[in-house]
Amino acid sequence: MVLLYNNTVKKFSLPQLSHLELTLIALVLILTGALLVLGSYILYVDLLRPHAEPLSPRSDIAFATITPPVIRQITLEKAPALPQINGLPADTPAAPATSVPYFSAANEMGKVMVLEYHRIAYPEMRYQRSPDNFRQDIQRLVDNNYYPVNFAELVSGLKNVPPGKKPIVLTFDDSDISQFLVLDNRTVDADSALGILLNFHEKHLDDWPMRGTFFVLGDDTNNYTKIFGQPEWAKQKLQVLVDLGMEVGSHTVNHVDLSQVSAERIEWELAVSQYVIEQSVPGYQVQSLSVPYGGFPWTYDFFKAGSWGDYSYTYTGNAAAWGGPSLSPHDTNFDPYHVPRIEVSDIWMDHWLTYFEQNPNEYYISDGDPNRLTTPQEQPQLAADAPN
Ligand SMILES: [Zn+2]
Repeated sequence: MVLLYNNTVKKFSLPQLSHLELTLIALVLILTGALLVLGSYILYVDLLRPHAEPLSPRSDIAFATITPPVIRQITLEKAPALPQINGLPADTPAAPATSVPYFSAANEMGKVMVLEYHRIAYPEMRYQRSPDNFRQDIQRLVDNNYYPVNFAELVSGLKNVPPGKKPIVLTFDDSDISQFLVLDNRTVDADSALGILLNFHEKHLDDWPMRGTFFVLGDDTNNYTKIFGQPEWAKQKLQVLVDLGMEVGSHTVNHVDLSQVSAERIEWELAVSQYVIEQSVPGYQVQSLSVPYGGFPWTYDFFKAGSWGDYSYTYTGNAAAWGGPSLSPHDTNFDPYHVPRIEVSDIWMDHWLTYFEQNPNEYYISDGDPNRLTTPQEQPQLAADAPN
């Protein structure tokens, strides 16, 4: 037993290491540590900043099977045209007159709200604003001197806002049928988002022009069903929105979280969705994007320009899914590819409208002159210069 015990101990004892061997082991350990630190730093600098979304370069089957030829095969030329819709204004709102008075008490460094709507239907719930509440939203905006603009107009510097008006952007994600429903008699449903906006425009004319951005799912694989839910009307609806002066932007093809897919998939989503919209509205150029789920890819470079196969794309701006009011586009910290929005609910709509009623000096007010930037700092001098 004693022998056996001794043998066992001997068997598992550590080998005697020479001085040289110890030095080598220490060197290896130090080098490994240094490489780990360097690797972590590179990962942080190149890949994780400024958006800490995880990288998972995965693809999926739907991506692999959908190819551009499928898009080309689908046409809707036999669908009836929309101009017979009752209540559509004959022409788009007039551009502001060239001789508008200058509004010296402007604040073109103030904040701007970008409202985010999804479905417009009963009952009121998350991602669904009731038609009555949507009407109340617009009424409150009209009453408080807000003026609707398209998302792309915000990004490009709000050059068409009349003097004294407060710009606001209405955005609609997901191209749900409740945003633009055509009834059997070819009229626009008065409870759909577009029907409600058309009625406000008829009542308030130039004080409430037809402006707003519909971020649609540029998906034609099921005969355009994902574009406002009525395939036979899909193309005409997009055309009508553009003709009215509203904006059609992309919300990707398949509503994917761009922080969770491969680079190739991101470019496919951005290129194909833009292509599907643009071929539906000849001559129209899609400018704006809203990322589903607020999921950002690891670099904004994807938004600016890219291509998939023969399809290239550019976007001038991208809407985030949350974040509160946006900075003025004239603010040096304004990022056109990360414009925050306010998801509309009873609580948040009232919160922000009340906030800016109580802090009116914080909101953007246009001077009416697209070639001039008026900030509160300039006002005393401008007021002194103005003739009495
Ligand atoms: Zn969405």
